[in-house]
Amino acid sequence: MVIGHIFCVGRNFRKHAAEMGSDAPEKPMIFQKPAHSLACAGGDVLRYPNDCGAIHYEVEIVLYIGKQVKEGFSVDEVVTDMALGIDMTMRDVQSELKQKGHPWLLAKGFKNAAVVTDFWSFPGVHACKEKNFSLYKNDECVQKGNIKDLIFDFQTLLTYIHEHVGLNQGDVVYTGTPEGVGPLSDHDTFELFWGTKRKGQFRVQLGAR
Ligand code: ZN
Repeated sequence: MVIGHIFCVGRNFRKHAAEMGSDAPEKPMIFQKPAHSLACAGGDVLRYPNDCGAIHYEVEIVLYIGKQVKEGFSVDEVVTDMALGIDMTMRDVQSELKQKGHPWLLAKGFKNAAVVTDFWSFPGVHACKEKNFSLYKNDECVQKGNIKDLIFDFQTLLTYIHEHVGLNQGDVVYTGTPEGVGPLSDHDTFELFWGTKRKGQFRVQLGAR
């Protein structure tokens, strides 16, 4: 599978915006990660630096754009596959960048910052509402979400990205995290679930860069 651009959206669930001390945004707050920040949640150890403050997990649904995107497109036409992912975020670095009004790249674009499971066939927006996605840390559920609670639904989000920066075949979109984000610790085990089905897992190793 060829991956083009990686787009993400901040604060797309009300309760997550609230836990970050932010208001719900009026327009999608989009940003990008570099393609080389991708990491597979395929059971391996993923390494993260231990010298840059807290690194937070944010579980999200990831959409794969498998078709050419034309004006008036619908999500069910252009999204061919989906996965679960974690938008890893250096929270302390991000707070500092926010304060200064600087871009978020350093807090969001580091190595292994875009964790993703294997993709599977997209069942359509309607079917997605029938399942929750969740994240387990050391056998305990820490995040659970359903796209019924999105502030900007898939269509609004993809249309916004398409109109403002372009969206095309091969691009992936992280669609936002529900509440319950928190810091990684050394040796944490993470499992990503779609409904009752485990779609990916990995273990964390914190260490020197
Ligand atoms: Zn996120």
